[in-house]
Amino acid sequence: MITLNFMGVKVITILSGGTGTPKLIQGIKKIYDQSKIKVIVNTLENNYFSGAYVAADIDTVMYTFADLINEKRWYGIKDDTFITNAELDKLNTPELLRIGDKDRALKIGKTQLLKNHSLAKAVDIQRKNLNIKAKIIPMSNEKSQMKIITNIGELEFHQFLISEKSEPVVEDVIFSNVKPADEVIPAIEESYMVIIGPSNPITSILPIISMKDVEKTLQNAYVVAVSPIIGSNPVSGPAGKFMNALGYEVSSYGVASIYSNFLNKFIIDNMDVKLKEKIEKIVEDVEVTNTKMTTTNTKKELAKLILKK
Ligand code: GDP
Repeated sequence: MITLNFMGVKVITILSGGTGTPKLIQGIKKIYDQSKIKVIVNTLENNYFSGAYVAADIDTVMYTFADLINEKRWYGIKDDTFITNAELDKLNTPELLRIGDKDRALKIGKTQLLKNHSLAKAVDIQRKNLNIKAKIIPMSNEKSQMKIITNIGELEFHQFLISEKSEPVVEDVIFSNVKPADEVIPAIEESYMVIIGPSNPITSILPIISMKDVEKTLQNAYVVAVSPIIGSNPVSGPAGKFMNALGYEVSSYGVASIYSNFLNKFIIDNMDVKLKEKIEKIVEDVEVTNTKMTTTNTKKELAKLILKK
């Protein structure tokens, strides 16, 4: 592993959801000392499914560090089996989330740990047992909720995403305000750099930065973000619908406007070079590169550009 010599080994903190930022983490972990990486992960979508506590984004980040992630879905463990899931179908008690057998073990384990520990502690125990050196911090230990207001009524996030296949028109997104976990503010304060990966700005990042004191702390940090929007569409998923519903332009400019109060550097895709000047009016440093992470090399190159301060 190369440790970037212009960085030394200072702590960096990454804010993450469960698809775009984990891809970037694959690049960062190849060139940066893992023990100096902290990841604050969205917990708004956490809930119980089939009796097990599912912290989907946290588990995706864990599997990414442990090289176990199923990269086809950015959910669950690669080459997992689905024996329990199939039995649940046969018993006419199908599950909303299709959970793999090995993945279910981690989720059951977490459910057990939660009887005596906070979510932060349970995740810390699990990441150590998976030999992960990076620190994985749930944004909050509190139970939270997100409601998607649509043209067909009020939906839970997973109902919208899975049962309704993200098809309804989104009118509003409402999430409960929760207290940050104890480790969140100190992680940002001690970091040489905070990285906001290309995650859904509304359902993955806004819940983190809306918690008490987070935005204020980010204003005193060096913050770099990558746009999850290329042209006028997200690379994947429903981020565009959510941004539109909250009145943001669906473009990298729209993403920059959500983060502009605390952003030092913003990375946009080559396809959006024409927006550079417009974005420079709200963010001091705008870099243009290939942000579509399709290979190990594209992930590493993007990580290098981010880490260069
Ligand atoms: P979720 O928790 O599964 O919604 O995942 P995230 O919020 O972490 O990531 C979803 C976002 O990742 C979407 O808005 C995508 O546009 C973005 N994304 C996925 N792959 C890439 C990529 O290769 N490059 C960029 N720039 N964005 C990506």
